[in-house]
Amino acid sequence: MSKKEITTLTLKPGREKSLLRHHPWVFSGAIARVDGNPASGESVDLVSAEGQFLARAAYSPSSQIRARVWTFNPSEQVDADFFRLRIKNAIASREPWLVNGITNAFRLIHAESDGLPGLIVDRYADTLVLQSLTAGSEYWKDTLATLLLEATGLTTIFERSDADVRELEGLAPCIGPMRGTLNIQPLIITENDLKFHVNVETGHKTGFYLDQRFNRQRVRALAEGRSVLDCFCYTGGFTVNALAGGARSVLSVDSSGDALALCRENCSLNDLPLDRQASLEGDVFQLLRKFRDEARSFDLIILDPPKFAPTAALAEKAARGYKDINLLAFKLLQPGGILVTFSCSGGIDAGFFQKIVASAALDAGVEAHIVEHLSQSPDHPVALNFPEGTYLKGLICNKL
Ligand code: SAH
Repeated sequence: MSKKEITTLTLKPGREKSLLRHHPWVFSGAIARVDGNPASGESVDLVSAEGQFLARAAYSPSSQIRARVWTFNPSEQVDADFFRLRIKNAIASREPWLVNGITNAFRLIHAESDGLPGLIVDRYADTLVLQSLTAGSEYWKDTLATLLLEATGLTTIFERSDADVRELEGLAPCIGPMRGTLNIQPLIITENDLKFHVNVETGHKTGFYLDQRFNRQRVRALAEGRSVLDCFCYTGGFTVNALAGGARSVLSVDSSGDALALCRENCSLNDLPLDRQASLEGDVFQLLRKFRDEARSFDLIILDPPKFAPTAALAEKAARGYKDINLLAFKLLQPGGILVTFSCSGGIDAGFFQKIVASAALDAGVEAHIVEHLSQSPDHPVALNFPEGTYLKGLICNKL
């Protein structure tokens, strides 16, 4: 498309500030005028009230985020060559973090943080899983699939575009093979030399919580000789690492029986001592209370709950949930015990999370140190111009 044919979106006076800082989102309230009738996902030029070019972006007529920037460079066209380069750069940026060759499952493309709003691509061994979340990524989805195979030399892409946020973009869920044939599920991946079954068709997100890879290594390093309680264990990412690190025992808790079954299988897949692992299906909130009433204790507790606050509006309610489980966990820990606690809620920032954990310790009547701050693994980077890309935060606390 030549530049002339591109629809122009003119911003209201003064609303160009965030774009000048290279933030990639434009909200509907910032737009004064749309000259033309762009289709969902089509490229548009964003210009200031004074007519100055600001960025070239994907148009999303249904979303409050009306446009997401592809490029701030006026001479860069949004076409297959553009996406080829972005994909190449994203893949190259992961290489320094994966040089050890003991991991074959990681995030290749992390949406806005890789300059590709709405596009998530995870690699699980020889299978790519693509998640398209916005009108722009949807518009280019087929081109992107072709380019991804070209860049990786792989043949299979499975689509998992079933996240709730698609609704906000006016997009229906879309799940199924995009390219090639999916092998029988679950497939097996290697993460830090440990093997895991991953079901990319039915698993959470694209199948596995790849963002916890580095944090699982921390648990592995801390587990030796300890009795471990892995809350919200899903398919056993932390359980397997704790056992591999020499834990005396691991109790894995989740509300999903299917997840617990896969957790157990993942322990045996790695030839870990099954007599040291036990599973308990139920609600963590209730089970922690029950353990407290039974005066049980543990040396290492992991709390990795699902997202309690997807948006800032729900932060206060979510804070009560986080405080509740952290308070109970502090009570259940032996003196000298370790709490590894996370929040993946975008609506709760690291500072707020730390305050919640501090007030949990206070109300539990315990003293504790923060000994480490944790975050998402480096294949889930945060572009400096897009702080919203930060979502996973964690603390390792030592109970005195
Ligand atoms: N720690 C995991 C990821 C956790 S995802 C890993 O490293 O892979 C969150 C998990 O919490 C899911 O498996 C979900 O089934 C479980 N869950 C959600 N609410 C729960 C509750 N109230 N009690 C117990 N488990 C819950």
